[in-house]
Amino acid sequence: MKYISTRGQAPELSFEDAMLTGLARDGGLYVPEDVPTLTKAEIADMAGLSYEEIAYRVMRPFVGDSFGDDEFRGLIQKAYAGFAHDARAPLKQLAPNHFLLELFHGPTLAFKDFAMQLIGQMFQAALTKRGQRIVIVGATSGDTGSAAIEAFKGLDNVDVFIMFPEGRVSEVQRRQMTTPSENNVHALAVKGDFDDCQARLKDMFNDHAFRDEVGLAGVNSINWGRVLAQVVYYFSSAVSLGAPHREVSFTVPTGNFGDIFAGYIAKKMGLPIKELVIATNQNDILHRTMETGAYTKEGVSPSISPSMDIQVSSNFERALFDAYGRDGDAIRSVMNDLSESGSFSISQGAMEALREQFTSGRVSEEETSETIKDMLTRTGEVLCPHSAIGARIGDANLSEVPMITLATAHPAKFPAAVKDACGVDVGLPAHMADLFERSERVTPVANDLTALTSLIRERLKK
Ligand SMILES: *Cc1c(COP(=O)(O)O)cnc(C)c1O
Repeated sequence: MKYISTRGQAPELSFEDAMLTGLARDGGLYVPEDVPTLTKAEIADMAGLSYEEIAYRVMRPFVGDSFGDDEFRGLIQKAYAGFAHDARAPLKQLAPNHFLLELFHGPTLAFKDFAMQLIGQMFQAALTKRGQRIVIVGATSGDTGSAAIEAFKGLDNVDVFIMFPEGRVSEVQRRQMTTPSENNVHALAVKGDFDDCQARLKDMFNDHAFRDEVGLAGVNSINWGRVLAQVVYYFSSAVSLGAPHREVSFTVPTGNFGDIFAGYIAKKMGLPIKELVIATNQNDILHRTMETGAYTKEGVSPSISPSMDIQVSSNFERALFDAYGRDGDAIRSVMNDLSESGSFSISQGAMEALREQFTSGRVSEEETSETIKDMLTRTGEVLCPHSAIGARIGDANLSEVPMITLATAHPAKFPAAVKDACGVDVGLPAHMADLFERSERVTPVANDLTALTSLIRERLKK
């Protein structure tokens, strides 16, 4: 299995190299050259299996010879052993034909653990074999950072630096990043917003001298390994509702387009998905793009669903690549327009291809709070703001096909917003009950490439 860049000018890589590299050297994103498919019988056989076994069957064809069969099974077992629910990704019913896929039973209470815990295991195995050290740098709107730190803290062959926008993450999110005491963990509070953090991360990767000097690796949602791990729960949930004999639809609270792109891959692999619905908050670049065909950056307005406060949706480039018939030149040209003018327009053909795969909706701040309250009344479930955005758009798209809405975080991660909306105080689960008593370690840093690279070089000398 070979991986190619969406911009057509980086070398083809194996699964292992694509995973360890993150962003391609031409600025593009790695995608599989061909998406493997599963037969109807293979999908039907997944009924009743453990999450781990479904994970193995879904991901195995993408991994090639990077890991042996037993080795890969072992990595999957270890990745999900720390989850607080036997089903890993349990389904709950919200209404007739509307289901909630709970993806928040991992160690940091957000769906990011599904990918990050597995990536941690895969990185460790690959690096040990190679006798190599790397530096992971990540940008986070809140949940990626804590999930990465949780997955990589204390590992011998990795240092992990996480940039988060100072003052723009919830207190629980911040403390999850600043309280681990392992000295390979470095939390950096950047003076800027999430898009600034993401832009500086791209700058670092494009600084090839720095990249090679420190052995830079990325685990942001553009990492193919992460997208792949997320494909699994589309299968596990759809199969438990009757796939492949019955179609299902999904609504996905979306920021960087990673999670919903995993759904698109599941569909390409043969899972019968009718609709993939993009749910955005007031930072609605994806919804506007679907409506108008123009991808136009605006400023980020901070919301009560901070993990979706994004205006440059990195993984969208992967969907565009397919929509443009896998034409790397076309992608280079639109991405160039984006960096020069903050905007690009999508060709009519590509827009038709996108609209065939995705629909979209947007939820305001007021509607988000309203939905948290309404869902508590109608179902007894307390949803986090991101999941509430999904549930509202899911409700609006109900049909004869079961709708599965992804619940992307535990409400305890966003206690203030949840309390304001419905009056409920959600406590932290037992394993992190003392989070507010632990001491914090964080380095403030300017929104500037040189400031960041010198800081990282300094830290690595110690
Ligand atoms: C990261 C995140 C999202 C957005 O996921 P993408 O893959 O970036 O679209 C939504 N909700 C929560 C809670 C998140 O942490």
